[in-house]
Order: sequence, then C-alpha cells, then structure tokens
Amino acid sequence: MSTPLNRLTKLVGEVADLRHAADLLEWDERVCMPEGGAQVHGEMLATIRRLAHEKLTADAVGEALDQLNGHRGGLDPDSSLSRMIAVTARDYDKATKVPADFVAEQARIVSAAQPAWARARSACSFSIFQPHLEAIIGLKRRYVTFFPSADHPYDVLLDDYEPGMKTADVKAILGTLRPRQVELIRALAERPPIAAAFLHVPYAEQELWAFAVDVITAFGFDWAHGRQDKSVHPFATAFGADDVRMTTRFVEGQPFGLLFGAMHEAGHGLYEQGVSGAHHRTQLEGGASLGVHESQSRLWENLVGRSLPFWEHFFPKLQARFPSQLGGVTLPQFYKGINKVERSLIRVEADEATYNLHVMLRVELEIALVEGGIAVEDLPEAWNSRMQEYLGITPPNDASGVLQDIHWSAGLLGYFATYTLGNLIAAQLWDKFQAIDPARDDQIRRGDFSALRSWLGSEIHQYGRMYQPRELVKRVTGSSIDPEPYLRYLESKYRGIYS
Ligand SMILES: [Zn+2]
Repeated sequence: MSTPLNRLTKLVGEVADLRHAADLLEWDERVCMPEGGAQVHGEMLATIRRLAHEKLTADAVGEALDQLNGHRGGLDPDSSLSRMIAVTARDYDKATKVPADFVAEQARIVSAAQPAWARARSACSFSIFQPHLEAIIGLKRRYVTFFPSADHPYDVLLDDYEPGMKTADVKAILGTLRPRQVELIRALAERPPIAAAFLHVPYAEQELWAFAVDVITAFGFDWAHGRQDKSVHPFATAFGADDVRMTTRFVEGQPFGLLFGAMHEAGHGLYEQGVSGAHHRTQLEGGASLGVHESQSRLWENLVGRSLPFWEHFFPKLQARFPSQLGGVTLPQFYKGINKVERSLIRVEADEATYNLHVMLRVELEIALVEGGIAVEDLPEAWNSRMQEYLGITPPNDASGVLQDIHWSAGLLGYFATYTLGNLIAAQLWDKFQAIDPARDDQIRRGDFSALRSWLGSEIHQYGRMYQPRELVKRVTGSSIDPEPYLRYLESKYRGIYS
C-alpha cells in the first residue's frame, strides 16, 4: 500500500541516487578525467543536477510532506523519522523558494566568473575580476530577498552551509578571537624563529604516501568502504557511508603537506563512514554542516596529528622510513618544526596559529559587501589593510591577496566562516572527550585511536544531518559554540613551543 512515507522515501531516495551520481562525476573530474572530457562532464552534471532539483521540488514531495507533517505531533521529536521529515521539509522549502530562472542565471554568471578569476589571478589584476564579482554580489543580494524573514541578509548565505547559524553569533565569535589571536601572533613573532632544516630536504613521495596510509588506517578509516587518490586540490566526498573518496597531494618542497592533508581528509572521511545506515538515501545523509565537518578534519589533522603524544608514537616509525632525512632529528625538534608559526600570505598554507586570522578577514569583508558597507572596487585595499592589521604583512600583489581563493568566483559566499567554526568545535570536542576519558593522551601515545573514534561516532557521526550544528554542539559539550577552548588550546600550545 502506498503511504505518504513510502512515497516520500522513494522520491528522496531517487534524489539521493542522482546526488551520488553527480558527486561521483565530480570526483572523476577532479581525480582522473582527461582534459578533453570537460565538456561532456559539464553536460552530464548539468542534466543530473537539474533532474535532482526537479525531483526534490516536485509537488509530490510537497504533498507527501504535508501529509506526514500532520502526523509528526505523535512522534518523538528526537526520533530519526521525525527529524527526517523536518529536514526534508526544510530542504524542500529552501529549494522551492529559489526560482528556476535565478538558478540558471547564477550558473551563467558563475561559469563566466571562474575563468575571469583565473585570468585575473595570473595577471595579478583585480580589475579583470571586478565586474564579475559585482555581478555575483548582485546575485547574492537577490538570493537574500527569497528569504525575507531573515534577521540579517548574511544569515541567508550562512544558512546554506551552517544551518541555523546567525551573523550576530559569527560576529561575536570573531570579536572574541581577533584581539587574542593578533596578540598571540605578535608575541610569537618576537621569539627566536624555529629552525627546521629537515623540512627543506627531499622526501620520496611513495614512502610518505605509505606512511600516511598507515596513520589513516590507525585512525580507523575503512578501506573496504573508501579509497584515497591524488588530486591538485585535496578533498573528500562520499556517496553515502559505503563509498567514501578522499584525495591528497604531494608538493615538492612541502614534504608533510601530503601527510597532514591526508589526516585532514580522513577526518572528513571517518565522519561520512560513521553516518548511520538508517539515513542512507535520505536527506539525513552527510554531515550536520560544513563547520561540523571541518571540526572532524581539524581534530584529526591538528589536535591529534600535530600533537606531541601522537608523534611520541609515530616519530620513530617515520624516522625508520626516512633515516637520512630524520635520523639526526630529535622528537622535540621535529614537533617544533611541524608546528612552526609564520606570518604568511596564503590561507591554504597557513599554520594553526594564524589560520583563523585569514578566515576572519574574508568573513568580515563578505558581511560588509552584503550589507553594502564596502564596494567591490575597494576590496583589494580593504583586504591589504586588514592583512597588515592582523598579520603584520601586506600582499605584494592581488594574486597573493584578494584573488587567492576560488570561493567568490564560484559564488560561495557565507562559506568561509565554517573553517573557523570547525576549529572552535574541534577544540570543544577535544576538551569534552578528555573530560570523559582522561586517558586520552596515553591512548594516543600508544597509537590507539579506537576510543576517540567510537566516541565521535556515537556523539556526532551517526546522526548525519539530524541535528543543526548549534544543537549538536550543545548536546555533546553542554555549551554553545565557544571560542574559549580553542583560544586556551592555541595559547598554551604555542607559548609552550616558543617558550
Ligand atoms: Zn576540510
């Protein structure tokens, strides 16, 4: 018998199939597509994404949801069925509020903006990109009007990546972080720099790859349901919990980028693999938000992977693989070297201590652009003055300044804050796990990550998208998203390293 639930399950199941197929095509595009395949890939993706959108916004979905919503009162609001109905209704509402002509116009503007951004970047000239960015900001202002009940226009943009998060919360968090992080960087800059010659000698890529695989395997990544490949820009993606793909890269002169990148993406991968099978082919698949996702990648990359207990276990193993490069290096030298703080221009190369400052300046500029407090033509100047204020350096040109990231050209406004939120949530989870399991560091010292992984699995991973980020963090840690644990962690770690 066809019930509203059967009908909804079937329809959103097919939406999920199309989403998985499109994600698989995108993985292929970034990992193994020959250059000449760009057009056919573009055609396949446009068709599949359009079909997925049409299916999700079909009247039949709305009707099934209406009927089910009538019965939700009798359900436990925390049950996965009740949450599935609520999340699907939310996704349906958002998708149906945006007219098809807007979606098409956005696709047109973005596809012209991306090559213009690439040209502007290679010519180090913002003016080439400026009219395209103006069009994108205009587009975003129009997008905001589809959601008139928002408290702040930027809330609408944030909500696409960080459901339920408010601009006011983000501003308050950045207001707390800014002075303390700026002060920390100033204090560290006055200390003698860390010398780490071992970072500047050649390492064999294959050997680093094999070591990274050992580490990720120890973290608990399930190779029967995932794989790791190479790509220019590392990323992770998943077609449900059963097939999780991640990539890393080797860059000459940055030997450990491959390893830390692999640990980072494995954090995303473990999250996806841990989502309950009950959410497969529903709108509850995947992570709670980009910020919560990033909390997992940052936790494994930094709080675990750049910690002393971790290297007490793994450094002898790394030395055994690289006797000529690391044979004469002590553990404290290695630990300090991989945690070296530098005031640098490029966000993706930034260390733990400076990273949030890079993100902060982007979020502040985005909010000002959306509020109309700053014009696109004044962006390079505003960027450079903030770099000077926060990091004490000024980019020599637009390519290493305002043009460095792809996000704006891709129409991704509201995205950057998720990186910082991820750092903060990671530190909150780290403290909470330590409080319930005081043996945390001893386990890591033994290379045993099972307790940490299963705690993250039961507290975060299994739920998929059931809870919004603020609610999830509150459930797990008992507090709201809070910059204090992260600041405490940073200050104590880096003052120690640079003492
Ligand atoms: Zn990430």
